[in-house]
Order: sequence, then C-alpha cells, then structure tokens
Amino acid sequence: MICKFQRTIKREITIKGIGLHSGEPVTLKLIPAESYDGINFIRNNVLIPARIEYANGFEFSTSLSREGQSVRTVEHLMAALYFTGIDNLFIEVSSEELPILDGSSILFIEKIKDAGIVSLNEEKIYAVINDQITVSDGDKFIKGRPYEGFVATFQASYNNKIIGNKMYRYDSTVKDDFLNVAKARTYCFLEEIEFLRERGLAKGGSLDNAVVFKGDTVLNPEGLRFEDEPVKHKVLDLVGDLYLLGMPIIGEIYSYKGGHRLNASFVRKLIEESKFDVKYASEVIDSMSGLNAKISS
Ligand code: ZN
Repeated sequence: MICKFQRTIKREITIKGIGLHSGEPVTLKLIPAESYDGINFIRNNVLIPARIEYANGFEFSTSLSREGQSVRTVEHLMAALYFTGIDNLFIEVSSEELPILDGSSILFIEKIKDAGIVSLNEEKIYAVINDQITVSDGDKFIKGRPYEGFVATFQASYNNKIIGNKMYRYDSTVKDDFLNVAKARTYCFLEEIEFLRERGLAKGGSLDNAVVFKGDTVLNPEGLRFEDEPVKHKVLDLVGDLYLLGMPIIGEIYSYKGGHRLNASFVRKLIEESKFDVKYASEVIDSMSGLNAKISS
C-alpha cells in the first residue's frame, strides 16, 4: 500500500502505562505535526528525532538519545506509526521508557485510529532500495533487495519446540496483514528473567504484557494469539526499527535471527552506502508495474 500524502493525527492523544524494563509509570502525549516535521520525541524539553543517528541502545529494546536525554523501547510505537502511515508527529514522554501496554503495537494503533488520521498537503516520501545489501553478525544476517512493495521476513532458529525454525513474511500489499504483526506480543523465557532483572531489565514485565515461555510451554493462561506469535513479534520489532530510517522503505527485507542491534546496523549501512533513492509517492507509483501499486490517500 502506497500512501500519496504525508500524515499526522487529527487531535492530541494521551496514552498511559508502565515501562517493560524500568517498571516506571509513563504518560505519552501524541501531538499533531506538519509536513516534513518528521517523528520526534520530546523528553524534558529536548527534541529527540526518531532517526537512526540518535539510536544508541539496543539491549532488549531500542533507545534514542540526544543532549543527555533518552527515550527507551521506541520500537513498538514506531511500528504502529509505520502501519498507520503517520510520518509527522511529536511525542512527549514523561518518563524515560515508553509504555509496554499489552506487549504489542495494537493498542497504539487503536488509539491513533480513534483520534483520527489526517492527510497533509505534501506528498509522502519513500526510501526505494536500489541494490542488494547485507549486514551480518556471526551467523545472524539481514538482507535487503529491490522489490515493488514492502516485505519484511523474520526467520528464527531457536532450540525451542514452539519457536523452532518458524518464519513469518509480512507483505504490506496484503490487506490487513499488518494485524498479524501488530498484535504479536513481546516474549521471553522464564529462565532469562533472573538474568534480565540482575541487569535492571524487565522490572515491569508480567503475563499481562509479555508471553513467557518455560521451556516448551507457554505460561500465559490465555496462551498464544498465533501459533507463530514470537516470529511475528520479531517482524514487528524489525518494522519498528527500520522506520528509524526516517521514511518507509520500498524493498524486500529478510532477517535471519536479527535483533535490534543488527536492525540498526542495517539501517546505518543503507544510509552509508546510499543503497536507496528518496522518491515522492507519485514517482514510486509511476515506477511500479501495476500489481502492487495500490494507492491510498
Ligand atoms: Zn519488541
């Protein structure tokens, strides 16, 4: 789906919750913006643009920092903004870490849709991948290549019966496929929790905001939302981190076991090696052969 015009929200939205890692209460204020403002966090009056240049923390979440101020665990909101086509927004954050809500992006999306999405006057801009690109770390890698649309695939390789070698391929041109990704919750292993807590992480984690595995069983009484929920969540993280490029990507992305750090390396390499062209929506639509050029205002 290609949106023709840049978007923001119709009216201010307040979202309250707690941080997954900090356990701290937090209030977000989402504020409408103008064309070319981009997506910007505001923390203690410091503007932190939601761009890869400011990404500096990747341990179990993605953090952004500028002038001594940080915002943490931005990826699920970033994915929600990607899925709703929002490219201009100010986000005031009352505490360092964003709310985890139910561990997925769906509640952010519902709030945004309730407030209303508006098209602005300027055309949307896209990053059209123009060449093959790979980043790797040990056996993990992410590959990108030109494609008429946006596809993001995550391939797992876990020594766990539920996750195992599952993969999910998100295709932006398939109607409502985003819901498969947006509803997938974050997850962890019971065995990891002590390790995380010793490092000051997962303090706000509970069965209300994360899927917890004990070996090959799911501890949440309601079970999984999808049998492949964990890999769908990894696609959600990938989509959210990729949006730190500052514009949506047209291309196909394949991640084998990648995480936040590798996602960020991929975005940095795209920029450093000029592996994309910046194009207006109308140019992107004109260059597509037809099948995938589904247009929305
Ligand atoms: Zn996540």
